Amino acid sequence: MSNDTVHLIEMTQVSKAYADGAGAQVVLTDFDLAVQPGTSLAIMGPSGSGKSTLLNILAGTVLPDAGCITVNFPAESIRWDQLDESGRVRVRRRHMGYVHQFFNLIPTLSVLENVLLPLQLNRMVNPHQAALGLLERCGLSHRLQAFPDQLSGGEQQRTAVARALVHKPALLLADEPTGNLDDANSQQVAELLLSACQETGTTLVLATHSTQLAQRCNATLSTG
Ligand code: ADP
Repeated sequence: MSNDTVHLIEMTQVSKAYADGAGAQVVLTDFDLAVQPGTSLAIMGPSGSGKSTLLNILAGTVLPDAGCITVNFPAESIRWDQLDESGRVRVRRRHMGYVHQFFNLIPTLSVLENVLLPLQLNRMVNPHQAALGLLERCGLSHRLQAFPDQLSGGEQQRTAVARALVHKPALLLADEPTGNLDDANSQQVAELLLSACQETGTTLVLATHSTQLAQRCNATLSTG
C-alpha cells in the first residue's frame, strides 16, 4: 500500500473510557484504524470488549476522550469532532447506513415506508423506484404494506438492510447484524449485506460473533 492511499476511515490514537462508579471503565486506548474504501471489516471480540463503542465512535454518536476520526466520504471529508450535532446528523443521514442487532425499524411505518424514509429525508428523486427495487432484491415485494410487528426476524432484518442501503451510503455500519437470527436467515442477511455493499462500493464495518460472517469480510480485527 502506498503512503498516499486515501482511506475512507482514519482513526488515530483514539481513547475512550466510561465513568464507572468512582473509577473508569477503559474501553479503547490509543487505538488506530485505517479502512480502505469499498472493503469490508469485521470487528470480533467477547461481549463487553468495545465492539459497539467502536462502531458508535465511527458513527459519531459517541465522541472519544482523545484522538481523531476522519471519514473521507467521496463528496466531503469530515472529522466528527469538528461538526456540531446537526452537522453530524446531516452527515450520517446522507453518507451512512446503520444496521442494528434488534432491527430498530419504526413500528408505526410499513416496510415500504421504513425504506422510503432515508430517501425522503435526503430529498432524493424517484424514491419509490429505488425502494421497490431494493425491497424486491431483499425478497420483500410481497410484504410492502406489512408493519414490523407482522414480520419474522429475518424479514425485519432484511427490511433494515434495505433501509440502510437504499440511499447508497459510502459507509455502512452493522452491529451484530445476524446476532438475533437463525442460521438460514443469518446466511441470507450476510449475503445481502456483502453483495449489496460490493456492488455499490459501500465500505462495510460490522461487529459480529460469527466466524463464518467474519471470514467473508476482507479483514478482521479483534477488540479483546
Ligand atoms: P461490546 O459491543 O463488545 O459488547 P460495548 O462497546 O457495548 O462492548 O461495551 C464495552 C464496555 O463499555 C462494557 O463494559 C460496557 O458495560 C461499557 N459501556 C458501554 N457503553 C456504556 C455507557 N454508555 N456507559 C457506561 N459504560 C458503558
